[in-house]
Amino acid sequence: MHHFEYKNGDLHAEDVRVGDLAREYGTPLYVYSAATLRRHFQAFDSAFSELDRLTCYSVKANSNLSVLRLLAAEGAGMDIVSGGELHRAMKAGVDPAKIVYSGVGKRAHEIREALEAGILMFNVESTGELDLINEVAISMGKVAKISLRINPDVDPKTHPYISTGMKKNKFGLDMVSSLKTYERARDMEGIEPVGIDCHIGSQLTTIEPFLEALDKVLVFYEKLGNMGIDIKFLDLGGGLGITYDEEEPPHPKEFGAALTAKLKGLPLKLILEPGRVIAGNAGILVTEVVYTKTTPSKHFVITDAAMNDLVRPSLYGAFHRIVEVKESGRATRDADVVGPICESGDFLARDRELPDVQPGEYLACLSAGAYGFTMSSNYNSRPRACELVVDGNTVVVARRRETYEDLTHLEEE
Ligand SMILES: *Cc1c(COP(=O)(O)O)cnc(C)c1O
Repeated sequence: MHHFEYKNGDLHAEDVRVGDLAREYGTPLYVYSAATLRRHFQAFDSAFSELDRLTCYSVKANSNLSVLRLLAAEGAGMDIVSGGELHRAMKAGVDPAKIVYSGVGKRAHEIREALEAGILMFNVESTGELDLINEVAISMGKVAKISLRINPDVDPKTHPYISTGMKKNKFGLDMVSSLKTYERARDMEGIEPVGIDCHIGSQLTTIEPFLEALDKVLVFYEKLGNMGIDIKFLDLGGGLGITYDEEEPPHPKEFGAALTAKLKGLPLKLILEPGRVIAGNAGILVTEVVYTKTTPSKHFVITDAAMNDLVRPSLYGAFHRIVEVKESGRATRDADVVGPICESGDFLARDRELPDVQPGEYLACLSAGAYGFTMSSNYNSRPRACELVVDGNTVVVARRRETYEDLTHLEEE
């Protein structure tokens, strides 16, 4: 059952015509399907039902409060990477005992805020960070539970910008120094090492790199046991990929079965941090064709959505399927779909076979629910898009469209 489907030639978000939403709320417009978010979360979480587990949705994929609230109501914990994301998670009513905090550059005030909130644990990425957490915790009379983020040196075979578990990446600690760091952590007054963490990258389309990393982590887990460090949590991060184009990532069920086979019977609580696989295909970006233009070498479809709304094509050369909101049945032609921003890198698609769309018509950029709005900006002084959550035939404005006033209200006039 898919929740973005054509009925009588009209693209629907659940029970609502996307064209009606575009007319009512304007474009560019993000539309998320609540049923899809729920289904994705449950499919992922239930794949690990044989294990003691906590599924912590990765907030950075889509951090809208409505999305966080919906997932929290499904039982999700959250993986955060900043004080701002902590603020969002708390505002959305997430149980702090289900929050893990990752990221390489945590500031002292962010650490304090997280300790005040009472989060489950920090995923620590450097010795400097460990020292700072210890210091802050002592000053507050608290003990911070931590995992060290291990860099297992595994190639996840994904885009270099979203590979994180290779030796050359900035993330985590190598396995040799990690052993010493756990030893230090064990003896720190403000620190209790309770877990091992690892996140090797995003948009992985095979299970093998996960298993390779897990094998290394399990060897490491044994070593820590021999050192008398009592590890209770194993955090394997996020990273499961989705279908944007022709990718065939493993179903969460398959992923769950593979991990379960290796972890069953171990006295560990598994933490997972899925982001993209929950939100990616639960959202679309709707845009209006403003102009078309044919030059001697290309046909351009100029839309009102741009790289500031959805940067993935420009940043990673990422593919997003683009479809008509109302099927026209027109013959296709090769086109570049580009935005109004003054950069040649501003495109949503290049050399794409599309029906011969005309100004005033709507297009939908699919698979835009993760790393879409959260990566958007005001570049070229473009107000950020409106976000809607559709649930059956109910429509909620999850974030109103920014106004010109929103663009300047923090500035000296
Ligand atoms: C980004 C990130 C995730 C989520 O990755 P997805 O590919 O969206 O599942 C999980 N954990 C950490 C530490 C991350 O940085």
